[in-house]
This record gives sequence, structure tokens and C-alpha cells, in this order.
Amino acid sequence: MMPEISKVDLHTHSTFSDGSLSPEQLVQRALSRQLRLLALTDHDASGGVESAVKAAEGTTLKVIAGAELSTTWQNCQIHIVGLFLNLNSQALLHFYQGQRERRIERAKVIGAKLERQGFHDAYARTCAMADPGALITRGNYARFIFSTGQASSIDDAFNSYLKKGKSAYVNTLWPSIGEAVDVIRASGGVAVLAHPKRYLLTNTKLRRLIEEFKSAGGLAMEVASCRQRPCDRVYLGELCQHYGLFASMGSDYHQGSPWLDLGLGLTLPEGLTPVWECPQARELKLDEFLRS
Ligand code: AMP
Ligand code: MN
Ligand code: MN
Ligand code: MN
Repeated sequence: MMPEISKVDLHTHSTFSDGSLSPEQLVQRALSRQLRLLALTDHDASGGVESAVKAAEGTTLKVIAGAELSTTWQNCQIHIVGLFLNLNSQALLHFYQGQRERRIERAKVIGAKLERQGFHDAYARTCAMADPGALITRGNYARFIFSTGQASSIDDAFNSYLKKGKSAYVNTLWPSIGEAVDVIRASGGVAVLAHPKRYLLTNTKLRRLIEEFKSAGGLAMEVASCRQRPCDRVYLGELCQHYGLFASMGSDYHQGSPWLDLGLGLTLPEGLTPVWECPQARELKLDEFLRS
């Protein structure tokens, strides 16, 4: 039996970072799948949000302004999603500028490492495959490597070149969780701990991460995602409840596949309070909107 498609997806990417669809195409896909609420959460950027909001005007879909911020915590790369962001916030724009500079510098070093392994003009060709102005992530490099035929899939490109310990990996010092949460809060947004199981932490360390995230001012965590083991969803639900956080859910859409798509199978365990019922969302009357 195919899992149901949820009306809500609060973690997605567009061509503004490493997603395959433009913001407009993403909105069209969300509409065709009958979603009502979509957050665009590109890596360290919100440049696609305005186009997505415009594309959804006059439709049954509401677009939430978001982003996925890269942070470093205990030598791990932890992602913090910001939702309901005020995109005119000076603090946010300043943070994005710093991330852009860090990403350009890092992308050039990754390119140089690939160059030494025979990938001619790796940085320039990866940039040429992305939209002008897009933030270059390892996801973009994975597409480039795959396009050269040197990897059999995007996953293979990560496993062979890009993941920690591999030849083109670059250890970047991102801002701290506290800095990311502060900038989200300064922009009127809600900080959400993204895909907590993806970091492969022990349960003890995961709890420590959630405790630190919460004491930094984090308000929500992702509980439901695609390609997730049912026991992981249950466990994350228990943690979410235990720490008194709002629950979020998102596909982390980059490109469609039979097992990962907008809204696919995203349901929250019972007893959790969804993030669209948090005070920041209340003035948008999302609860009412979703019932309409
Ligand atoms: P970055 O922020 O530049 O380190 O890139 C992180 C992005 O790379 C993630 O958001 C994913 O889109 C992608 N990514 C990371 N690990 C993998 C993997 N094993 N397979 C496919 N994509 C991955
Ligand atoms: Mn990505
Ligand atoms: Mn992520
Ligand atoms: Mn993501």
C-alpha cells in the first residue's frame, strides 16, 4: 500500500541551493500533490522564497519563508531549519552573507581537490550546472560528479568522494547552534532541529544535542521525514514530547523518487503539538487555514 501524501511539508529545496526544481516548479508539484502548506528551506539562503510565494498566490497552497542553516556542534555538521522568517531582517541577511562567503571558499577547495583527481574545471563546471547565484553545496558537486560518469549515482558520489573521510571532503567550521538559533529568533522565526537521526549520534549524544538546542532557544524538532524507519519516528516523537518541543515534518525534497517526494508519508505520532500551532504561526492562522 502506498503511504498517504500529507498536506504539509516543511523542509524542501529548490534550485536556489541543491534542489532540482525552481521555486515555481516546486509550488506546481506541491499543488499537484494537493499540499496546503509548504516551507521552502534552501541551504543558508531564502532567495527562492519570494518566487515561491508569488507562484502560490491565489491558490490553495501557502508558502512559509524558511531556510536550513548549517552549524557545527562537537565537530558534527548539524542543520537547523528556520521557519516563519522575516526575510528583511538585517541579522538574517548578515548571517546569509557570512554563509555565502564560507560556502564559496569551501566550494573552491572541494573543486581543487577534485581537480587533483582528474575532474577538470570542477568548481567552474559545478557552478555552471547550478542557477546563477545559487549556493553551492556538496549536493551540487554530487550532481557534477555523477554527470561525468565517475559515480553511478548521487549517493555513490557522496560515498566515493564527498562524505567525511573521503578525498574531496572539506571540514568547514560553520557557526554554532546558538548563533543560528539567535539569528532565526532575531528574524521572528522558529528554530527547528532538522532530521535528528541523520547525524548518526548515540542516543545519549542525541539527547545532549536536543538539550543544547533547546537551551539555545530552539522550539521544534523534525519528527517525521521520508525514508524513515517507523521505530525512529516513534523514538523522535518520544524525545519531542519529553523535551516539550513543537513537532515538525518534512521530506527534505531535492528531487523526486518513489520513496521521497513532497508530503510523502509525513504523519506525526499522536499527542504531539505541530509546529504550525506555535505562537509565531498563530498570527498566520495556519491551523484555521489547514482546516478550511
Ligand atoms: P553541504 O551543506 O554542502 O555539506 O551539503 C549537504 C547536502 O548534501 C545535504 O543537504 C544533502 O542534500 C546532500 N547529502 C549529504 N549526504 C548525502 C548522501 N549520503 N547522499 C546524498 N546526498 C547527500
Ligand atoms: Mn541539500
Ligand atoms: Mn539537512
Ligand atoms: Mn535539507
